[in-house]
Parts: sequence; structure tokens; C-alpha cells
Amino acid sequence: MKDYYKILGVEKTASKDDIKKKYRKLALKYHPDKSPPDKKEEYESKFKEIAEAYAVLSDEDKRRQYDNPHSDFAFGGFDNVGEFIRRTMGEDFFDGFGNGPFGRTNVRRDTQRNQRGRDIHASITIKFEDMVRGAKKTIAYDKPIICEGCDGNGYPKGSPPVTCDACGGSGQQVKMAGNIMISSTCISCGGHGKKISSRCSKCNGRGLVYEKSEVSVSIPPGIESNSVIRCSGAGGKGARANGDLYIKVRVMPHKNFVRLDGRQIGSVLEVNAIDAILGCKAETNTVYNRRMVNVPPGAQPGHKIYIEGDGIDGAAHVLEVRVKVPTLINKKQKELLEQFRREGDG
Ligand SMILES: [Zn+2]
Ligand SMILES: [Zn+2]
Repeated sequence: MKDYYKILGVEKTASKDDIKKKYRKLALKYHPDKSPPDKKEEYESKFKEIAEAYAVLSDEDKRRQYDNPHSDFAFGGFDNVGEFIRRTMGEDFFDGFGNGPFGRTNVRRDTQRNQRGRDIHASITIKFEDMVRGAKKTIAYDKPIICEGCDGNGYPKGSPPVTCDACGGSGQQVKMAGNIMISSTCISCGGHGKKISSRCSKCNGRGLVYEKSEVSVSIPPGIESNSVIRCSGAGGKGARANGDLYIKVRVMPHKNFVRLDGRQIGSVLEVNAIDAILGCKAETNTVYNRRMVNVPPGAQPGHKIYIEGDGIDGAAHVLEVRVKVPTLINKKQKELLEQFRREGDG
């Protein structure tokens, strides 16, 4: 999991105010407008990371969950990172941006009320064990809902957008530079030709409000990392139909277990050289339980031991024998081994 405190450069005990201050400072620093041309992507991803950290740490519920080492906290993702930043940094933060990833959402939303709700993209990270066994996870996210105060238009009912006076409604601004006429997109209205004269107070002109939502998803055993699960109708609310929620599932690597091709799980079993020669019983962990296995006499390095049923969907857990050579032996043991060597290979 990402260290959101580190990303924002604050202590774990930082107050809400401190977090907000740090976030605003960093957001200004990594404002996409300030990125050198060769660092555009770096700034953009840094910016998103800062926003994600702030989204979690500024929300008391989310922060508590995130701080709890026993919870399966997963960041629900942004429906629209630009919207989030506007909400937290103010409407003017992105003024003058085009249609880039942070660009202003279209001012003309007249058709929004007839539309299908937005699709939302979220992601969660699950433990390796949950990948093997399958799991049920609850995902919390902010669901965008078309604002009832303005039907999603962003302006109060009865005060429709007015013609932009900066461009006379053309959406283009024309400047003369000597004898050359330069035409560019109107900064004042973003090229729409119309401007909202007053914003809907309920949604602050965004046309959307956000509702805290939860969805419970079943993760099937053996899911591949970066698979996407679609929750039909769990996305933004729309008048005609709801959007869908797409959840990207990442699987955390495990310190001992790996997924082998297909549905088997693998791990290493370290065996002392003498035990490998003589054979022994050894204990090992699988995702499911602690198991006792027999190492046969004369087991070679790389020898495989199969524990049926402890992989994915009843497949095997495969142990690969690694032979450890003892480095400290006493005099008696040394004599015995010398004798063993004299006896030859039998
Ligand atoms: Zn509204
Ligand atoms: Zn204009």
C-alpha cells in the first residue's frame, strides 16, 4: 500500500489543517501548468498521487480505515480527478486548461439529464491469500449523482447561461498582431460561447453531487492481477440508466508464495543436507494451513513435493527442495563425515 503520509510529507499524527496545507502547497507545486515539457507525465502522476493521498487523509472515515493495520483498506479511486481537485482547490485552479486529463468539464450540460450515469473506475489491492481462496470485498467510493437543484446543468433553474461577452458567443477570440489576425479559443468561456451567470449553490456549478456508496464484490479464486471486475449499474446515477463501476484488482505479491503457471502455488522448502541425504519430515505453510511433508531419502536440490488441494481451486501446492549445507559442525560430526567420505558412495 502507498504511504500517503510520506507522499504529503506529514507526520502520522498531523492534524487535518496541516494535511490540507501540505496538500495545497504540493498541488500548486505540481500544477500541470508548471511542468517542464519533458516532465509532463511525471508531474501528472505526482499530482494524481497527491490528490489520492489527500482524498484518503482528509476523510476521517477513510483515514481511520487506512491507519488500522488490520483493515483491508483500498482506495476507491477517482471518478474524475479533475473534479476532486476543483472541489478541494477551488474552481479557478485549472482555469485556462483545455481538455487534458484535468481540463474543465464541459460547461454546457443541457443534455446531461437525459444521459446514462457516468462510469466510475476504481481499484483495490488484495492479499495474495485472497487471490488463492477468492474473497468478498466491500469497496467504498463516491458516487456522482446528477444534482437535483439544477438537473445537472450547473446553473439555477430559470437562469440559463448567457452569451459570453468576451467573444460575443463565437467561442473564439481574435487578436491583431501587426497585420496578422490570430484567432484562439476564448479563455473566458472555454470556447463554448456561453457562460453561466450564477452557479447552482447545491453543487457549486458542477452539476453533480457526490454520495458515499459501498458495493460488495466477489473476487473469484485465481483472479489475475490487474483484472477488471464490472459492477453493472453501480456507477453514477443517471435518469435513463446508471453507469457501471469498474474495479481493477491488483494482487499483492507474497513473501513466500508465488503463483506457478495455471492454478498451482509454489514455495521453497529448505532442507539440511544431512536431512536431504537421509530423508526427513518437515513442516511448511501453505495458504490454507501448516502441513507436514515427507522429504524422501536422497532428495536432490530442486526436488518437488506436491501438497494436493492447497493451490487454487483444488490444484496442488508445490514445494521445491533447497538443500542447506551446515557451516558449523563439531569435531565428532566432522570425524563421522570424514569416515563417511572414506566409505565412498556406497
Ligand atoms: Zn446543481
Ligand atoms: Zn467566450
